[in-house]
Amino acid sequence: MRILVVEDERKIADFVKKGLKEAGYAVDVAADGEQGHFLAGTNDYDVIVLDVMLPKMDGMEFCRNIRKEKNPAPVIMLTAKDDVQDKVTGLDAGADDYLTKPFAFEELLARIRAVLRKKSGGVPTQLAVEDLALDLLSHKVFRAGKDIELTTKEYALLEYLMRNSGQVITRTMISEHVWDISFSTDTNVIDVYINYLRRKIDDGHKKKLIHTIRGRGYSLKA
Ligand code: CA
Repeated sequence: MRILVVEDERKIADFVKKGLKEAGYAVDVAADGEQGHFLAGTNDYDVIVLDVMLPKMDGMEFCRNIRKEKNPAPVIMLTAKDDVQDKVTGLDAGADDYLTKPFAFEELLARIRAVLRKKSGGVPTQLAVEDLALDLLSHKVFRAGKDIELTTKEYALLEYLMRNSGQVITRTMISEHVWDISFSTDTNVIDVYINYLRRKIDDGHKKKLIHTIRGRGYSLKA
């Protein structure tokens, strides 16, 4: 899952980016509303974390603009104070949720999970395909009841494949949702990670779940 953080306060932006990356998300940061608006129009983000007080284009205007452009990405607004009017205006502008600064990082993570859950039609906290299960809260992965150790990036890739199981997932889709803006598409990094996952998920199992769709990409299915 890929997240855009629009925040002009460098310290907060760095802190949020670091924490989200540790939690397995791909993260891009924009330091003002205009840059954020440009990135939101260029990439397909799963969630946008948006500060209200921003240079060039404030959070309210940003939100109204992306909704006008029919951008469906869930938006979590960061409001500076416990200002009821700010929250009301934010929700009216098209935000899905808000968080008052200063906030506990755990709460931001929980709200991100909540908007992702809503976006995917109320998917529970566990994803499952056949005997493969992924717990979105503990980040634990099991195949046939056996614990599988994954790196943060492998987990992020598997989560994306499982959320879209049964569909053909192109390398472009993977790079857009699992890697951030610094990712270079002319490498074979994605294939390398798919192979890591195959080894951990499918090796030793008769039924393979990760399939290569020739000339198109990959699919995770029974
Ligand atoms: Ca700000």
